[in-house]
Amino acid sequence: MIHSIEERTDLKGKRVLVRADINVPIQDGKVADSLRIDLALQTIQYITNQGGRVILISHMSDVAGSLAPVAEYLQKKIPLHFLLGVAGPSAQKAAHHLSDGEVLLLENLRHDAREEKNDPEFAKELASLADIYVNDGFPVAHRSHASIVGVPKLLPSYAGFQFFKELNGLTPALSPESPSIAIIGGAKLITKISLIQALLKKYDKVFMGGALANDLYVAKGYEIGKSLVSGTGHATNLLENPKIILPMRVIVSGPLGARETRASEVGKEETISDIAPSSIRELKPFLEKASSTLWNGPMGNFEKGFRQGTDVLAEMIASSPGKKIIGGGDTLSSIQNLGLSEKFTFISSAGGAMLDFLANGTLPGIEALDNRS
Ligand code: ADP
Ligand code: MG
Repeated sequence: MIHSIEERTDLKGKRVLVRADINVPIQDGKVADSLRIDLALQTIQYITNQGGRVILISHMSDVAGSLAPVAEYLQKKIPLHFLLGVAGPSAQKAAHHLSDGEVLLLENLRHDAREEKNDPEFAKELASLADIYVNDGFPVAHRSHASIVGVPKLLPSYAGFQFFKELNGLTPALSPESPSIAIIGGAKLITKISLIQALLKKYDKVFMGGALANDLYVAKGYEIGKSLVSGTGHATNLLENPKIILPMRVIVSGPLGARETRASEVGKEETISDIAPSSIRELKPFLEKASSTLWNGPMGNFEKGFRQGTDVLAEMIASSPGKKIIGGGDTLSSIQNLGLSEKFTFISSAGGAMLDFLANGTLPGIEALDNRS
Protein backbone atom coordinates (compact mmCIF):
# COMPACT_ATOMS: atom_id res chain seq x y z
CA MET A 1 0.00 0.00 0.00
CA ILE A 2 1.25 3.43 -0.91
CA HIS A 3 0.64 6.29 1.47
CA SER A 4 0.03 9.88 0.48
CA ILE A 5 1.93 12.69 2.17
CA GLU A 6 -1.54 14.12 2.76
CA GLU A 7 -1.84 11.57 5.58
CA ARG A 8 0.83 13.47 7.51
CA THR A 9 -0.36 16.49 9.43
CA ASP A 10 2.55 16.55 11.89
CA LEU A 11 5.22 17.94 9.63
CA LYS A 12 6.14 21.05 11.64
CA GLY A 13 9.90 21.11 12.10
CA LYS A 14 10.33 17.90 10.07
CA ARG A 15 12.80 17.77 7.21
CA VAL A 16 11.16 16.28 4.12
CA LEU A 17 13.15 15.19 1.07
CA VAL A 18 10.91 15.77 -1.95
CA ARG A 19 11.93 14.04 -5.20
CA ALA A 20 10.11 16.09 -7.82
CA ASP A 21 10.27 16.14 -11.60
CA ILE A 22 11.04 19.79 -12.28
CA ASN A 23 13.11 18.93 -15.31
CA VAL A 24 11.72 21.78 -17.42
CA PRO A 25 12.92 23.20 -20.74
CA ILE A 26 15.39 26.08 -20.32
CA GLN A 27 15.96 28.75 -22.95
CA ASP A 28 18.56 31.52 -22.66
CA GLY A 29 19.07 30.67 -18.99
CA LYS A 30 15.35 31.01 -18.17
CA VAL A 31 12.54 28.55 -17.54
CA ALA A 32 10.73 28.20 -20.89
CA ASP A 33 7.74 26.21 -19.62
CA SER A 34 6.98 26.31 -15.91
CA LEU A 35 4.15 23.76 -15.82
CA ARG A 36 6.03 21.00 -14.01
CA ILE A 37 7.36 23.44 -11.42
CA ASP A 38 3.92 24.93 -10.82
CA LEU A 39 2.47 21.44 -10.32
CA ALA A 40 5.24 20.51 -7.87
CA LEU A 41 4.27 23.47 -5.67
CA GLN A 42 1.22 21.63 -4.37
CA THR A 43 3.29 19.06 -2.50
CA ILE A 44 5.99 21.54 -1.49
CA GLN A 45 3.47 23.97 -0.05
CA TYR A 46 1.47 21.25 1.65
CA ILE A 47 4.61 20.58 3.66
CA THR A 48 5.82 24.16 4.20
CA ASN A 49 2.35 25.40 5.17
CA GLN A 50 2.56 23.05 8.14
CA GLY A 51 5.99 24.39 9.06
CA GLY A 52 7.82 21.49 7.48
CA ARG A 53 11.23 22.03 5.89
CA VAL A 54 11.60 20.82 2.31
CA ILE A 55 14.76 19.57 0.67
CA LEU A 56 13.83 19.55 -2.98
CA ILE A 57 15.66 17.28 -5.42
CA SER A 58 15.30 16.68 -9.15
CA HIS A 59 17.26 15.76 -12.23
CA MET A 60 17.62 17.63 -15.50
CA SER A 61 17.65 15.44 -18.61
CA ASP A 62 20.75 17.37 -19.69
CA VAL A 63 23.21 15.68 -17.32
CA ALA A 64 25.36 18.81 -17.20
CA GLY A 65 22.36 21.16 -16.95
CA SER A 66 21.76 23.32 -13.88
CA LEU A 67 18.62 23.83 -11.82
CA ALA A 68 19.66 27.46 -11.24
CA PRO A 69 16.96 28.83 -13.59
CA VAL A 70 14.39 26.73 -11.71
CA ALA A 71 15.66 28.16 -8.42
CA GLU A 72 15.32 31.67 -9.80
CA TYR A 73 11.74 30.92 -10.85
CA LEU A 74 10.82 29.34 -7.52
CA GLN A 75 12.39 32.11 -5.46
CA LYS A 76 9.63 34.43 -6.69
CA LYS A 77 7.02 32.10 -5.16
CA ILE A 78 8.48 30.51 -2.03
CA PRO A 79 11.32 31.06 0.47
CA LEU A 80 14.01 29.03 -1.26
CA HIS A 81 17.73 28.50 -0.90
CA PHE A 82 19.67 26.98 -3.77
CA LEU A 83 22.79 24.91 -3.24
CA LEU A 84 25.22 24.39 -6.09
CA GLY A 85 26.01 20.89 -4.81
CA VAL A 86 24.08 17.64 -4.70
CA ALA A 87 25.29 15.86 -1.57
CA GLY A 88 28.17 15.83 0.89
CA PRO A 89 28.95 18.19 3.80
CA SER A 90 27.65 21.35 2.09
CA ALA A 91 24.25 19.73 1.56
CA GLN A 92 24.26 18.47 5.17
CA LYS A 93 25.00 21.93 6.47
CA ALA A 94 22.39 23.65 4.29
CA ALA A 95 19.71 21.08 5.20
CA HIS A 96 20.39 21.52 8.90
CA HIS A 97 20.24 25.29 8.69
CA LEU A 98 16.73 25.31 7.19
CA SER A 99 14.02 27.01 9.22
CA ASP A 100 10.39 25.90 9.41
CA GLY A 101 8.56 26.59 6.16
CA GLU A 102 11.73 26.98 4.10
CA VAL A 103 12.85 25.09 1.02
CA LEU A 104 16.33 24.03 -0.01
CA LEU A 105 16.82 23.10 -3.66
CA LEU A 106 19.85 20.95 -4.44
CA GLU A 107 21.58 20.96 -7.83
CA ASN A 108 20.75 18.53 -10.70
CA LEU A 109 21.07 15.06 -9.17
CA ARG A 110 22.72 13.71 -12.30
CA HIS A 111 25.78 15.89 -11.65
CA ASP A 112 26.66 13.02 -9.32
CA ALA A 113 27.19 9.88 -11.39
CA ARG A 114 26.08 7.77 -8.42
CA GLU A 115 22.45 8.88 -8.93
CA GLU A 116 21.88 6.96 -12.16
CA LYS A 117 23.90 4.00 -10.86
CA ASN A 118 21.60 3.71 -7.85
CA ASP A 119 24.63 3.76 -5.61
CA PRO A 120 23.63 2.81 -2.02
CA GLU A 121 26.13 5.25 -0.47
CA PHE A 122 24.65 8.09 -2.47
CA ALA A 123 21.14 7.07 -1.39
CA LYS A 124 22.38 7.09 2.20
CA GLU A 125 23.82 10.59 1.81
CA LEU A 126 20.51 11.87 0.43
CA ALA A 127 18.47 10.09 3.09
CA SER A 128 20.65 11.55 5.86
CA LEU A 129 19.42 15.03 4.91
CA ALA A 130 15.85 14.36 6.02
CA ASP A 131 13.37 12.57 8.29
CA ILE A 132 10.82 11.72 5.61
CA TYR A 133 10.90 11.02 1.86
CA VAL A 134 8.27 11.99 -0.69
CA ASN A 135 8.29 10.96 -4.34
CA ASP A 136 6.32 13.41 -6.45
CA GLY A 137 8.04 12.55 -9.73
CA PHE A 138 5.88 9.92 -11.43
CA PRO A 139 7.37 10.71 -14.88
CA VAL A 140 10.75 9.37 -13.65
CA ALA A 141 9.37 6.48 -11.59
CA HIS A 142 10.42 4.03 -14.33
CA ARG A 143 14.07 4.76 -13.56
CA SER A 144 15.89 2.71 -10.92
CA HIS A 145 17.95 5.65 -9.74
CA ALA A 146 19.16 6.34 -6.20
CA SER A 147 16.73 9.20 -5.54
CA ILE A 148 13.81 7.07 -6.74
CA VAL A 149 14.40 3.54 -5.45
CA GLY A 150 17.38 3.84 -3.09
CA VAL A 151 16.26 6.54 -0.67
CA PRO A 152 12.80 5.10 0.09
CA LYS A 153 14.48 2.00 1.53
CA LEU A 154 15.97 4.24 4.21
CA LEU A 155 13.22 6.65 5.23
CA PRO A 156 9.48 6.58 5.90
CA SER A 157 8.19 7.21 2.37
CA TYR A 158 5.14 8.78 0.80
CA ALA A 159 3.76 9.72 -2.57
CA GLY A 160 3.24 13.39 -3.37
CA PHE A 161 0.12 14.88 -4.93
CA GLN A 162 1.25 14.68 -8.57
CA PHE A 163 2.48 11.13 -8.10
CA PHE A 164 -0.89 10.07 -6.77
CA LYS A 165 -2.74 11.91 -9.49
CA GLU A 166 -0.87 9.94 -12.18
CA LEU A 167 -1.15 6.65 -10.32
CA ASN A 168 -4.89 7.04 -9.78
CA GLY A 169 -5.48 8.41 -13.26
CA LEU A 170 -3.65 5.60 -15.05
CA THR A 171 -4.65 2.63 -12.89
CA PRO A 172 -8.11 2.20 -14.51
CA ALA A 173 -6.34 1.71 -17.87
CA LEU A 174 -4.89 -1.53 -16.47
CA SER A 175 -8.32 -3.09 -16.11
CA PRO A 176 -10.47 -1.76 -18.95
CA GLU A 177 -14.18 -2.50 -19.10
CA SER A 178 -15.57 -4.02 -22.28
CA PRO A 179 -16.08 -2.86 -24.93
CA SER A 180 -12.54 -1.55 -24.76
CA ILE A 181 -10.06 -0.27 -27.29
CA ALA A 182 -6.43 0.80 -27.16
CA ILE A 183 -5.23 3.06 -29.95
CA ILE A 184 -1.49 3.18 -30.37
CA GLY A 185 0.43 5.33 -32.81
CA GLY A 186 3.72 7.16 -32.89
CA ALA A 187 7.05 6.33 -34.28
CA LYS A 188 9.01 3.37 -33.01
CA LEU A 189 7.41 -0.04 -32.71
CA ILE A 190 10.44 -1.27 -30.79
CA THR A 191 9.70 1.11 -27.89
CA LYS A 192 6.05 0.08 -27.75
CA ILE A 193 6.02 -3.62 -28.49
CA SER A 194 5.85 -4.76 -24.87
CA LEU A 195 3.08 -2.25 -24.24
CA ILE A 196 1.13 -3.55 -27.24
CA GLN A 197 1.57 -7.13 -26.08
CA ALA A 198 0.25 -6.22 -22.62
CA LEU A 199 -2.71 -4.36 -24.12
CA LEU A 200 -3.62 -7.32 -26.33
CA LYS A 201 -4.21 -9.34 -23.16
CA LYS A 202 -6.64 -6.82 -21.68
CA TYR A 203 -8.33 -4.81 -24.41
CA ASP A 204 -10.93 -6.08 -26.88
CA LYS A 205 -9.33 -4.22 -29.78
CA VAL A 206 -5.95 -2.65 -30.43
CA PHE A 207 -5.77 -0.14 -33.27
CA MET A 208 -2.32 0.48 -34.71
CA GLY A 209 -1.66 3.80 -36.40
CA GLY A 210 1.17 6.22 -36.96
CA ALA A 211 4.45 4.81 -38.21
CA LEU A 212 3.78 1.63 -36.19
CA ALA A 213 1.31 0.65 -38.90
CA ASN A 214 4.15 0.73 -41.43
CA ASP A 215 5.79 -2.27 -39.80
CA LEU A 216 2.58 -4.20 -40.24
CA TYR A 217 2.25 -3.16 -43.87
CA VAL A 218 5.76 -4.49 -44.43
CA ALA A 219 4.79 -7.74 -42.71
CA LYS A 220 1.85 -7.97 -45.10
CA GLY A 221 4.26 -7.61 -47.99
CA TYR A 222 3.16 -4.11 -49.06
CA GLU A 223 5.46 -1.63 -50.71
CA ILE A 224 5.88 1.29 -48.30
CA GLY A 225 8.32 3.40 -50.30
CA LYS A 226 10.37 5.70 -48.11
CA SER A 227 8.18 5.39 -45.01
CA LEU A 228 9.60 5.08 -41.51
CA VAL A 229 9.82 1.55 -40.05
CA SER A 230 11.47 0.11 -36.95
CA GLY A 231 12.14 -3.28 -38.45
CA THR A 232 11.69 -5.16 -35.20
CA GLY A 233 10.43 -8.36 -36.77
CA HIS A 234 7.62 -8.37 -34.19
CA ALA A 235 5.03 -7.23 -36.67
CA THR A 236 4.26 -10.68 -38.11
CA ASN A 237 3.00 -11.99 -34.77
CA LEU A 238 0.81 -8.94 -34.40
CA LEU A 239 -0.73 -9.45 -37.84
CA GLU A 240 -2.00 -12.84 -36.76
CA ASN A 241 -3.77 -11.44 -33.73
CA PRO A 242 -7.49 -10.97 -34.44
CA LYS A 243 -7.73 -8.10 -31.94
CA ILE A 244 -5.45 -5.89 -34.02
CA ILE A 245 -7.11 -3.32 -36.26
CA LEU A 246 -4.87 -2.05 -39.03
CA PRO A 247 -6.04 1.03 -40.95
CA MET A 248 -6.18 0.39 -44.69
CA ARG A 249 -6.08 3.90 -46.09
CA VAL A 250 -3.19 6.33 -45.68
CA ILE A 251 -1.99 9.77 -46.70
CA VAL A 252 1.27 9.63 -48.61
CA SER A 253 3.61 12.41 -49.62
CA GLY A 254 5.85 12.15 -52.65
CA PRO A 255 7.29 13.89 -55.69
CA LEU A 256 3.76 14.75 -56.87
CA GLY A 257 2.57 16.10 -53.52
CA ALA A 258 0.27 14.46 -51.00
CA ARG A 259 -2.55 12.06 -51.82
CA GLU A 260 -4.80 9.58 -50.10
CA THR A 261 -4.45 5.95 -51.15
CA ARG A 262 -4.78 2.36 -50.06
CA ALA A 263 -1.96 1.15 -47.85
CA SER A 264 -1.35 -1.55 -50.47
CA GLU A 265 -0.83 0.99 -53.25
CA VAL A 266 2.01 3.18 -52.01
CA GLY A 267 4.64 4.13 -54.60
CA LYS A 268 8.37 3.48 -54.23
CA GLU A 269 9.08 7.20 -54.10
CA GLU A 270 6.32 7.94 -51.61
CA THR A 271 6.25 8.25 -47.81
CA ILE A 272 3.30 7.29 -45.64
CA SER A 273 2.81 10.42 -43.53
CA ASP A 274 -0.60 9.97 -41.91
CA ILE A 275 -3.51 7.59 -41.48
CA ALA A 276 -6.38 8.70 -43.73
CA PRO A 277 -9.31 10.23 -41.82
CA SER A 278 -11.65 7.79 -43.60
CA SER A 279 -9.83 4.87 -41.95
CA ILE A 280 -9.94 6.58 -38.56
CA ARG A 281 -13.69 7.16 -38.96
CA GLU A 282 -14.22 3.42 -39.22
CA LEU A 283 -13.60 3.38 -35.46
CA LYS A 284 -16.57 5.61 -34.83
CA PRO A 285 -19.21 2.92 -34.19
CA PHE A 286 -16.86 1.22 -31.76
CA LEU A 287 -15.91 4.44 -29.95
CA GLU A 288 -19.57 5.41 -29.65
CA LYS A 289 -20.16 2.40 -27.43
CA ALA A 290 -16.72 1.94 -25.90
CA SER A 291 -16.54 1.83 -22.09
CA SER A 292 -12.76 2.20 -22.01
CA THR A 293 -10.48 3.87 -24.50
CA LEU A 294 -6.74 4.28 -24.18
CA TRP A 295 -4.82 6.41 -26.65
CA ASN A 296 -1.09 6.95 -27.07
CA GLY A 297 0.80 8.13 -30.11
CA PRO A 298 -0.05 10.51 -32.95
CA MET A 299 -1.49 9.01 -36.13
CA GLY A 300 0.85 10.89 -38.44
CA ASN A 301 3.88 13.08 -38.81
CA PHE A 302 2.01 16.00 -37.27
CA GLU A 303 5.08 18.23 -36.88
CA LYS A 304 5.26 18.34 -40.69
CA GLY A 305 1.59 19.23 -40.95
CA PHE A 306 0.21 15.71 -41.37
CA ARG A 307 -2.24 16.02 -38.51
CA GLN A 308 -5.63 15.24 -40.02
CA GLY A 309 -5.69 11.65 -38.79
CA THR A 310 -4.73 12.72 -35.27
CA ASP A 311 -7.27 15.56 -35.21
CA VAL A 312 -10.13 13.34 -36.35
CA LEU A 313 -9.16 10.67 -33.84
CA ALA A 314 -8.87 13.15 -30.95
CA GLU A 315 -12.36 14.52 -31.69
CA MET A 316 -13.85 11.04 -31.88
CA ILE A 317 -12.29 9.88 -28.63
CA ALA A 318 -13.33 13.11 -26.95
CA SER A 319 -16.99 12.40 -27.82
CA SER A 320 -16.88 8.77 -26.74
CA PRO A 321 -19.14 8.28 -23.71
CA GLY A 322 -16.85 5.91 -21.77
CA LYS A 323 -13.63 6.34 -19.85
CA LYS A 324 -10.89 7.78 -22.04
CA ILE A 325 -7.31 7.90 -20.89
CA ILE A 326 -4.63 9.43 -23.05
CA GLY A 327 -0.96 10.29 -22.77
CA GLY A 328 2.46 10.50 -24.35
CA GLY A 329 4.71 13.51 -24.81
CA ASP A 330 4.07 13.89 -28.53
CA THR A 331 0.43 12.88 -28.22
CA LEU A 332 -0.15 15.81 -25.87
CA SER A 333 1.70 18.28 -28.12
CA SER A 334 -0.27 17.01 -31.11
CA ILE A 335 -3.63 17.86 -29.52
CA GLN A 336 -2.57 20.99 -27.66
CA ASN A 337 -4.53 23.42 -29.80
CA LEU A 338 -7.71 21.41 -30.23
CA GLY A 339 -9.25 22.64 -26.97
CA LEU A 340 -10.38 19.14 -26.00
CA SER A 341 -8.52 18.67 -22.70
CA GLU A 342 -11.67 18.87 -20.59
CA LYS A 343 -13.24 16.00 -22.52
CA PHE A 344 -10.79 13.28 -21.50
CA THR A 345 -11.13 11.33 -18.26
CA PHE A 346 -7.40 11.55 -17.65
CA ILE A 347 -4.45 13.04 -19.48
CA SER A 348 -1.15 11.59 -18.35
CA SER A 349 1.95 13.73 -18.50
CA ALA A 350 4.20 10.86 -17.49
CA GLY A 351 5.58 10.06 -20.97
CA GLY A 352 7.84 7.00 -20.96
CA ALA A 353 6.85 6.16 -17.38
CA MET A 354 3.24 5.89 -18.54
CA LEU A 355 4.19 3.42 -21.29
CA ASP A 356 6.17 1.29 -18.82
CA PHE A 357 3.42 1.44 -16.20
CA LEU A 358 0.80 0.28 -18.71
CA ALA A 359 3.11 -2.45 -20.02
CA ASN A 360 4.13 -3.81 -16.61
CA GLY A 361 1.34 -2.75 -14.26
CA THR A 362 3.85 -1.10 -11.96
CA LEU A 363 7.14 0.84 -11.90
CA PRO A 364 10.33 0.63 -9.82
CA GLY A 365 9.46 3.94 -8.13
CA ILE A 366 6.01 2.64 -7.17
CA GLU A 367 7.41 -0.61 -5.78
CA ALA A 368 9.94 1.37 -3.78
CA LEU A 369 7.19 3.32 -2.02
CA ASP A 370 5.23 0.16 -1.42
CA ASN A 371 7.95 -2.00 0.05
CA ARG A 372 8.66 0.01 3.12
CA SER A 373 8.26 -1.45 6.57
P1 ADP B 1 4.36 9.76 -27.76
O1 ADP B 1 5.47 10.69 -27.36
O2 ADP B 1 3.01 10.43 -27.69
O3 ADP B 1 4.40 8.45 -27.04
P2 ADP B 1 5.86 8.80 -30.02
O4 ADP B 1 7.08 9.42 -29.46
O5 ADP B 1 5.77 7.33 -30.04
O6 ADP B 1 4.56 9.41 -29.32
O7 ADP B 1 5.68 9.21 -31.54
C1 ADP B 1 5.55 10.54 -31.95
C2 ADP B 1 6.22 10.74 -33.28
O8 ADP B 1 5.72 9.84 -34.24
C3 ADP B 1 5.99 12.12 -33.80
O9 ADP B 1 7.24 12.75 -33.95
C4 ADP B 1 5.32 11.89 -35.17
O10 ADP B 1 5.78 12.78 -36.17
C5 ADP B 1 5.79 10.50 -35.48
N1 ADP B 1 4.98 9.82 -36.49
C6 ADP B 1 3.73 9.34 -36.40
N2 ADP B 1 3.33 8.79 -37.57
C7 ADP B 1 4.37 8.94 -38.44
C8 ADP B 1 4.59 8.58 -39.80
N3 ADP B 1 3.67 7.97 -40.53
N4 ADP B 1 5.79 8.89 -40.33
C9 ADP B 1 6.73 9.51 -39.63
N5 ADP B 1 6.58 9.87 -38.34
C10 ADP B 1 5.41 9.59 -37.76
MG1 MG C 1 7.56 10.80 -27.92
